[in-house]
Amino acid sequence: MVSWNTSSQDPLRAYPAAQQPDWPDRSALDAVTRELETLPPLVFADECDLLKDRLAAVARGEAFLLQGGDCAETFDAVRTDTTRDKLSTLLQMAVVLTYAGSVPVVKVGRLAGQYAKPRSKATETRDGRVLPVYRGDAVNGFDFTQASRVPDPTRLLTMYQASVTTLNLVRAFSAGRNANLRQIHNLNRDFVSGSPSGHRYESIADEIDRALRFMHATGSGPEAADAEEFFVSHEGLLLDYETALTRVDSSSGLPYATSGHLLWIGERTRDLSGAHVEYFSRINNPVAVKLGPAATSDSVLRLIDRLDPRREPGRLTLIVRMGAGKVREMLPPLVEKVTASGAQVAWVCDPMHGNTVEAPSGHKTRRFDDVLDEIRGFFDVHHSLGSHPGGIHVEFTGNHVTECVGGGHEVLFEDLASRYESVCDPRLNRSQSLDLAFLVSEFLGP
Ligand code: PEP
Ligand code: MN
Repeated sequence: MVSWNTSSQDPLRAYPAAQQPDWPDRSALDAVTRELETLPPLVFADECDLLKDRLAAVARGEAFLLQGGDCAETFDAVRTDTTRDKLSTLLQMAVVLTYAGSVPVVKVGRLAGQYAKPRSKATETRDGRVLPVYRGDAVNGFDFTQASRVPDPTRLLTMYQASVTTLNLVRAFSAGRNANLRQIHNLNRDFVSGSPSGHRYESIADEIDRALRFMHATGSGPEAADAEEFFVSHEGLLLDYETALTRVDSSSGLPYATSGHLLWIGERTRDLSGAHVEYFSRINNPVAVKLGPAATSDSVLRLIDRLDPRREPGRLTLIVRMGAGKVREMLPPLVEKVTASGAQVAWVCDPMHGNTVEAPSGHKTRRFDDVLDEIRGFFDVHHSLGSHPGGIHVEFTGNHVTECVGGGHEVLFEDLASRYESVCDPRLNRSQSLDLAFLVSEFLGP
């Protein structure tokens, strides 16, 4: 693979790029991007093509996407146990959803590259002091000091290394014993027996048990399912990083982002005339776009024209994040217009970003019931229009944090301070994530 722009000028220069850091030293940034251009790809074009095939099945209504991970990964959390617990939680959720929906679940982590954050304000004020806002470990430090908040381009190299390490763990765990279906199911059984809402989940856990015994008796597995296909994704926010890791695939001659299998454009950077849409239109990976309540059907149709001009199933995923109170009203016109245009996109529900509220303690939080209700609304809309509710995109961790309120092991507002560890948005903890999978499983299937 060769770099995509070694012989040409920066093809994005003519387009305004929103949400880019104010790097203090351009020559230091150039040195970093030149180094990134020499480094090996994190993912390969054929893996990206495989994910595109899997997402084409989602777009056709034959598969379901489960995408999730931290709002913002941090360099400190690049640890074996943290990564393993995130992966096992996602695989546990996937088993429940696969059984309930009777279709393959495509598993995509929000990890191994989710280090840059778009922000609604450029500064943060605390006790009268104003500093540049934290933009993710890829850019600056979380500590509230002037020194830590200055953007430092060498962090892009640390981001690359952190992504390499995380991806190595993910590749090992998803190929090994941790990904064994029986093992994952046993973890779900432990969850069900310890959960205050366990009685509600028991029948599906029993059914999965019987299905596994049946597979075993027929000699068709579950040992056959010892490895899990797992992909990685992040918001493609920092164009200096993404373009430096864009390579032309030697067999197809096409450029691919090699920082992750799937990249998405965030709600704040989907401007049709901006640099993000232009960059995404040039790469050959599967791509996604977040759509908030301000998205009009006209802008969505134009995004489809720019990002999926060939109407290639699997190329484009639309991640809707309207809020529980708005999804039933705002989603139907979008789905109707997109369907009428003939485009075959995958529709996915992000039930997190439209449901952020401030707790009495001042913590940013989300109510578990709002998260579930937005997913319910998303399913209702698709069922009433005859389209496919293609998946969910969640912010979660495998740890026992207290960041979102509610769930079977209920987290109360008063609990938020005890283990609030996110440096950005509140995540579902491990048991809330599993609650969600069992409850969403009730919307799936016949
Ligand atoms: C996010 O996914 O963390 C995020 C910032 O989402 P959005 O672009 O939808 O606001
Ligand atoms: Mn977030």
